[in-house]
Amino acid sequence: MAEKVMLVKYGEIAMRGDNQFLFINRLIKTIRRNLDPIGDFYVVRDPGRLIVEDRGGEMDYDAVMAKVMPIFGLVAVCPALRIADMTIEAIRAEAYQHMKAVYGDRQMTFKVSARRSNKGFSMGSMEIAADVGEYILDRMPNMTVDVKNPDVTLYVEVRNRIYLYSQIIKTYGGLPYGSSGKGVSLLSGGIDSPVATWMMAKRGVEVEGVYFHSPPYTSEWAKQKVIDLAKRIADFTGEFKLYVVPFTDLQLYLLDNVPHDKLTIHLKRAMMRAAEQIAVQDEAWSLITGESVGQVASQTMQGIYAINAVCNMPVLRPLAGMDKQEIIDIGTKIGTYDISIRPYEDCCTIFVAKHPQIKPRLHVIERIEKKLTNLDQHIADAVANAEIIEL
Ligand code: ATP
Ligand code: MG
Repeated sequence: MAEKVMLVKYGEIAMRGDNQFLFINRLIKTIRRNLDPIGDFYVVRDPGRLIVEDRGGEMDYDAVMAKVMPIFGLVAVCPALRIADMTIEAIRAEAYQHMKAVYGDRQMTFKVSARRSNKGFSMGSMEIAADVGEYILDRMPNMTVDVKNPDVTLYVEVRNRIYLYSQIIKTYGGLPYGSSGKGVSLLSGGIDSPVATWMMAKRGVEVEGVYFHSPPYTSEWAKQKVIDLAKRIADFTGEFKLYVVPFTDLQLYLLDNVPHDKLTIHLKRAMMRAAEQIAVQDEAWSLITGESVGQVASQTMQGIYAINAVCNMPVLRPLAGMDKQEIIDIGTKIGTYDISIRPYEDCCTIFVAKHPQIKPRLHVIERIEKKLTNLDQHIADAVANAEIIEL
């Protein structure tokens, strides 16, 4: 009898060297954490991969896949059968059963790809492939062999036990979450910043979100949207800490004290400073934004320069070189886009300049800010009064 298992492949190139042990342990921990709520699972190491076993009975492949696929650092998952009986007869029988169950009577081409790393097994890889291929061919008239470009490849791996699978489902790649230090992401309810946050998380950065909320100018709906986006990101990262920073007073202060066409730049600078203070508190090493060069008035090179000048930490802008459509495509794939485009009443038009300055000069911006004697206090107050939501 064969047992259903999930074979999990991870990115080997990124995991060479000293970090490998750490990375694999982290992957195992994450897989366990994700699967814990749905049953009794066990994760076993096998050279170059992990094998998920269901200790509670027959595995529900779809349920396990849904929990394992979003984990960063994996390259593919394969619903597989594990055969304890180390004989060619057992392989034949299970391979035939599998092909029949998965592909039925559909007209298809196939090939068998065998790999024997267990030299105790008497047949070689080529022999196993030919034998199993012939066995299936004799019993399934709907199947024909095509070794160059088959519709289906049936993999047979003879290790300390035998594994059979014919589906390799690609996952997101990246690095194990948390293996690249921490970053604080400026998370708005827009399309871009959730994608930026996800992209850095995918590279192994432990991410936290900071949302600047200005009630009543930004609505509760807007806040809820950010919370829902944060929840979606948490599906990938396992957990997510969101700061909701009250920015109304600061925003009104800027409105009264800076030229209207420069309001956005001053506001963004204040956001960066507040985010950096939170990052220092939480021992993060970087900030993350959804800025994309040239997308809006404040994202010209001069705008980014003037905004960036307040930060000491590196600011990661994974979307800098991407087109809107490329960003939307990723947002759609990861399930943030539908949340981002949710309509809501936004009544903060008083803060939006009709003709924002497109090429701000840093020395002018700095000269204006020198006179804003209450700015530091406003930023400190906003950070101190942040609401923390753990997702
Ligand atoms: P997004 O689609 O992410 O909202 P955007 O295209 O609207 O971005 P901007 O408004 O210029 O662009 O914002 C640039 C970046 O500044 C955002 O991607 C985000 O990282 C940050 N940001 C803007 N507004 C907020 C906010 N209210 N709270 C937190 N971060 C913000
Ligand atoms: Mg926005």
